[in-house]
Amino acid sequence: MFRSGAKRCLNCDTVMTGPVCEGCDLTEAAASLVVRRKVILRTGMFLLGSLAFIAAAYRFPPLAMDKMLVFAGVIFFVGLGLAVWVERGALRGGQIAVRKSLFTSVVLIPWLLAGMLVVNAKLDDAPIRDWTTRVVEKFSMSAIVPTRRLVVLSWRPGHEYEHVPVSESEYSRFHVGERVVVEIHPGLAGIPWVAGVVAAVNPGGAVKDHSGG
Ligand SMILES: [Zn+2]
Repeated sequence: MFRSGAKRCLNCDTVMTGPVCEGCDLTEAAASLVVRRKVILRTGMFLLGSLAFIAAAYRFPPLAMDKMLVFAGVIFFVGLGLAVWVERGALRGGQIAVRKSLFTSVVLIPWLLAGMLVVNAKLDDAPIRDWTTRVVEKFSMSAIVPTRRLVVLSWRPGHEYEHVPVSESEYSRFHVGERVVVEIHPGLAGIPWVAGVVAAVNPGGAVKDHSGG
C-alpha cells in the first residue's frame, strides 16, 4: 500500500506507521478533513488581509499605488491557486507539506503589505513636501474599488509622470492643464504617500488677494 517513500500524515507531516498518526492521533481521512478545514480558515485570513491592504492603501495612498495594487493582485490569485492546490492534495492524500508551507507564507503577504503601509504612514513624522506640477491627464474607473488618478508631470528623476491617487473632490476640482501642488509625505519606510493635491498659487508667491480692494 505504500508508494515510494514513507507515508506522512497530511496534518502534521509525521511518518505514518499505522492507521493512526502518532503525532496528532488522526486517521488519514480525519487528517485530510482537518487540513481542508485549515485551508478554508487560512483562505478567509488571506481574504481579510487583502481587504486590510486595500483599506490601508486607500487611507494612506502610496505614490506607487498602481504598482502595489498590481503586485497585490498577483499575490491574490497566487494565494487562491495555492489554496486550491493544497485542498486537492489533501483530498487525494498526496504529499502536501511543501504546498502547505507555501500557502501559509503567501497568506501572510497581504497582512505584511498592509502593516508596512500603516507603519510607513503612522510613524512618519518628517515634514510634508510640496511639489508644484501640472495635470496632463485624468482617469477614473470604478471596477472593484473606485480608482481616481491625476496624471501629473513627475518631479522625480527617471520618472516622466506620476499617477497620483486622489479623492473624489480633488478629482473633480482639477482639470487637465492646471497647475497643482502635490503634497507628499516621505514615509518612514521610504514609501512616499500622498497627503493631498491643492491648487498652485502664483509662482511669485506672497500675492495677497484683496478682491474688490
Ligand atoms: Zn499527524
